[in-house]
Parts: sequence; structure tokens; C-alpha cells
Amino acid sequence: MKFNTPEETLKKVWGYDKFRPMQHKIITSVLDGLDVLAILPTGGGKSLCFQVPALCMDGICLVITPIIALMKDQVEQLKRLEIKAAAVFSGMSLKEIDITLDNCIYGDVKFLYVSPERLKSELFIERAKNMKISLLAIDEAHCISQWGYDFRPSYLEISEFKKYIPGSRMVALTATATREVTRDIVDQLSLKGDHRIFIQSFARPNLSFIVRKTEDKDAKILEAMQKIKGSSIVYVRTRKRTKEIAEYLIRNKISANYYHGGLNFQERNTRQEKWMANRFRVMVATNAFGMGINKTDVRLVIHADIPDNLESYYQEAGRGGRDGLRAYASLVYQEKDMEELRNRIKLSTPEPQLIKRVYQSLANYYKIAVGSSLFASYDFDIREFSQTYRLDYLSTFHALKKLEDQGFIQLTESFYHPSKVLVRISHEDLYKFQVANRILEPLIKVLLRTYGGELYMNFTTISEKKLAISLRTSVQEVEKKLGLLDKQEVIVYDKRKDQPQITFTTPRYDATRLPLDIKFLEARRNAEMDKAEAMIRYVSQDNTCRSVFIQQYFGESTARPCGHCDYCLEKAGQVSADKAAAELPGRILSVIHERPATIDGIIRHFNDIREEFIIEGIQQLLDSEELYYDENGYIHCTS
Ligand code: ADP
Ligand code: MG
Repeated sequence: MKFNTPEETLKKVWGYDKFRPMQHKIITSVLDGLDVLAILPTGGGKSLCFQVPALCMDGICLVITPIIALMKDQVEQLKRLEIKAAAVFSGMSLKEIDITLDNCIYGDVKFLYVSPERLKSELFIERAKNMKISLLAIDEAHCISQWGYDFRPSYLEISEFKKYIPGSRMVALTATATREVTRDIVDQLSLKGDHRIFIQSFARPNLSFIVRKTEDKDAKILEAMQKIKGSSIVYVRTRKRTKEIAEYLIRNKISANYYHGGLNFQERNTRQEKWMANRFRVMVATNAFGMGINKTDVRLVIHADIPDNLESYYQEAGRGGRDGLRAYASLVYQEKDMEELRNRIKLSTPEPQLIKRVYQSLANYYKIAVGSSLFASYDFDIREFSQTYRLDYLSTFHALKKLEDQGFIQLTESFYHPSKVLVRISHEDLYKFQVANRILEPLIKVLLRTYGGELYMNFTTISEKKLAISLRTSVQEVEKKLGLLDKQEVIVYDKRKDQPQITFTTPRYDATRLPLDIKFLEARRNAEMDKAEAMIRYVSQDNTCRSVFIQQYFGESTARPCGHCDYCLEKAGQVSADKAAAELPGRILSVIHERPATIDGIIRHFNDIREEFIIEGIQQLLDSEELYYDENGYIHCTS
């Protein structure tokens, strides 16, 4: 399928009548053969910016995107429009990958979606060389910048990979990029000399930003839900809180449900669809919720915890009011949240010292001699490992991630996606089941003893190995029995793909000489800290319009006060209060001029001003002898 003009493509494939202004300029530039960087807010219609020109050109459009779920989503959408699209992602078998890539060479696949990691695979490079790739689209392009809020080292492979497809044009897209990041994207992708950059303003005129400090977040959330009607999202950091707040809202007669990454795929889908269809009103969620969601009538987005940075905040808050009608983005916080944010960033950017210690501990754990064991893989249980070396679990996790980022180790997908279990039946039924199924009884008991009541409520991360040790049996036996429980619909057993494994991708170093890129680690840490501080300033500042603050953060210097954020409203309120105060004495005098009155009589004349202000005003006029009391308690004018 090939179309002649972008307009024809838009109409025939999508059924839309016209491009949004920025889209048109971007698409024209791509078709003119220029490299393009497009910065458009979420929902701005970035996908069309590469999909439309690709359909007007011969050859394949290769799309780099970091998130598998998004990738699948877009491929599905294109297929529904009867456009040939395919994706290659981890989790596919080699054979599947092989067939897909073949289809791109010999078949008529138009869009191929891959994650950036794929670009360094030999197999992929060889195949890509034989494809006719006419357009390279880089979605979420900010991931290439270490100054960005979501740096992914694998994005750096892109400029290397470009060598293999010299004839291809390039379009990079992102929703968020500060000036620094914009410059970095251009450099890192080595966009052609006469490239174009398109930036759509970050102003969202129909979105009111509000920040509230409170000691009772739940009450504030409820209050907002009662004041503002319509579809809403509440973002919180922890999975536990999603459930708590949803239940609290339900108790207060507001229909709600919750969503987080710990729920299985199907459950997440069902809840999302019900929310989209307005079957319930409020989705309480972690930031796992929202990617690729197109609900235009969201009236209120509340953040009940401070996000890591303004990039994330703007993106999440920006899910409100996509229909252009008034919507609210509210953030509620308490004093201690700011310190917590700082600590969180510290934890996720471990000191080189700790990274080295974790590396040394790994070497000891597996008894690897210095210089040996290139590409050796081992089973890896992070809990057991961190306990053995008295390392903090979370710090260890982040140190391992850094070691992986810097290419010393590799962790299998199952490390990041461990097995999970959810009990599907009630306590009583489980007890009955246990009694009736003696073979499974010990496992059920150990499961409950190890993971507790949580199992009834949430998908809970489990370790088959730990269960096997408690039961003095093998991991295989545990897996088999969990499988049986799943079949009998007693539990849902979301089994990880394989045993988590760690691979050493370099010969073992002496930990003190580990060539960590310390400068880089420090730059990363500083960048993340700076972003957190800017987020904290956004929350705690009281001298700038929220909207202006955000736009300035993203490098827009022409921003104007929005007129309806909490700052602008307060300022407007202040101005009218000052004005009212200035006018008050004159108004009191003219009331009394007409007829002497008692204090209550005067107060009754003013329904727009608080009683104590009026009394204060009268008192001043009495003090300056412009008014006086008669013996009956009536107030008169002196002149
Ligand atoms: P982004 O990637 O910038 O967040 P998407 O590409 O996902 O945004 O587009 C958001 C929504 O806007 C999609 O539903 C898309 O179909 C719609 N859209 C994009 N461009 C247009 C247009 N010119 N006219 C109407 N709808 C559009
Ligand atoms: Mg997008």
C-alpha cells in the first residue's frame, strides 16, 4: 500500500480530515528528506508524524521504542488499519524472530518495531542490511540523553546502527525535552546538518495546575473528587496505596478501582477497559498506568506523592483534559515527602563504592577468581544474595542495574519479572481444599507462612527456591505443584520464564580496579538530583504561575500566566481582597450617610465581605472620629 500525498493517507487510512499544525510541518520536512526532531506533548499525535510519511515512501519504516507494551499496542493499531506491521521483542523465540525478519526482507511489512537492545544483535544487523529501510523513527527519543529523565544506555546503539542503513531518513520524537536534552538528542543521533527541530508549546490552557500541602491526603483527595465531577486518575507510588485509596473512595460512595504492575496482564486490561468505558470513575494507580491510554474526558488527575521529576509529572498530569475542556491537575503533599524524594533518588543512584562492593560480593558468592569466567552464567536469587552479604535489598538491586548498564553483568528478564502468586479462593475454601488434597497441603502451608495474607489480595512475588528449601524438596517439584494449584483454580501462578540468571560479560576484575565510569555515574546522579530539586521547587514555590514554571523548565521563555492555577487564583483573590479593603471605608460611610445604623445593620449591607473585616473597618472610622455612637447604639457620620 502506498499513497501519494500525506492528506490522502490521513483521510484514507485514519479517516481524519486534517493534520494538526505541527504534524503537517513535520511530515513535509521528512518527505523533503530532512532529519527531524519533533517535541510534541503526550497526545499531540507523534505516531502519525512517522507513520504518514512512511506510507508515502517506498520501503520499510524501522521504529525504535523502549517499551514492549507500547510496541505491541501500535502494531495492533496498524494491523486494524490493515497496514502490515511487525515487532521483534525479547520473549519471542529465535524462530519467531527469524520469520518476522524474513517477512521484512521478502514480504511486504511496512513497519517494523524493535527495542533498542536489538540494534546490537549480529543477527538483526545482518538482516537489517538486507531490508529496504527508508525511514528510521526513534520514539521516546529523550531516552538517548543521559541528561534526560529516562536515560536508556541501549539508545546509544542507534548512531552506531545508522551506519548499516545509510540511505534512510530519520525522525526522532519525544514528549519531553529540556533545552539541554534537545541539544543532546541532536548530537547523539548525529542528525544531518540541515535537520529541523519542531517544538510545540508545553502550555495546556485548559489544564489548571494546583498544589496543596496537607496532613490528610485521603481527605483532600476525597474533597477534590466531590468538587470536580468526571473521570479521574489518582497517582500514588506504592501498589499498596492504590488499593487503600480505591477502597477509601468506594467507602465514600465514589466508584473506583486500582491498577499497578503487580496485577497480571489480563486483570490490568479488564480494569483499564472498564475505566475507559466509564464503568467506574476513579482509577487509583502507580505510574504503570497510562502509557498509550487515549481517554479524552479525564477531568482530574491527582498526584498523592511527589513524582521524581517534572517530565514524569507533566506527562501524567497531561492525561487530563485531552478534549480541550477544563480539567484539573492537582498535587497533594506533606512536608516529609520532599525528603523522601531526595532519599529515593539517592537510593536509585548508588555510590561507586557500593557498586564495587556488590561486584566483589558477586565474585565471592560464585567463587570466581580474578581474570576468569568470561560469559559464565549462574542462577541468581537476589534476596538470598543480599542476605548473605548483609546488603540492603533495594540498594543491591540498583547497584546490580548499574553494573548491568555499564556492561559488566547481564541479568535475564526473569530477574526483573519474578514469579508471582495470587490466591483465588477464600480462606475457608482454601482450608477445605487443603484438607481434601493432602499432597498439596505442605506447599500451601509454607506458601501462607512465608508470604501471609498478602497472597489473597495481590499478586505476590515468590521465590520457588525459597519454598523448595523450606519444603526440603526440589525447585522443579515446587513448580509442578504450583502448576497443579493453578490448574485447579486455587491460585494464579504467574510463572517467570526461567530461573533468574546472571552472566558475567567481562573477565572478572579485581573489585578495586573495576573500570566503572565514575564520572558518568556522578553526572547521572547529579542530573537526577537536579531534576528532583526542580520538582521540589515546583511544589514549594509560591511566586510563579504553575504553568509558567513548567514551561520555563522545558525552556520556553515566552510563557504567560495561565490565570487559573492555584497561584494565579490566589493572586487574583489577593488583588480583589486588597481592592475591597481599600474601598471598604467609603462604602461604610455612604451606608451610614443614608441612615444611621447599628453594627449589625451595617454588616447586613455587605454580603461580599467577611464580618470581622467590616467590624475592623468601622472601628478604624470610629478611631479617626469620622463616625460616632449615639446613646442608643446607632452609628452616625461626623460630617
Ligand atoms: P503521542 O504519541 O504524541 O502521545 P499519539 O500519536 O498516540 O500521540 O496520538 C494521540 C491520539 O491523537 C491518537 O488517538 C491519534 O489517532 C489522534 N490523532 C493524531 N493526529 C490526529 C489528527 N490529525 N486528527 C485527529 N486525531 C489525531
Ligand atoms: Mg507516542
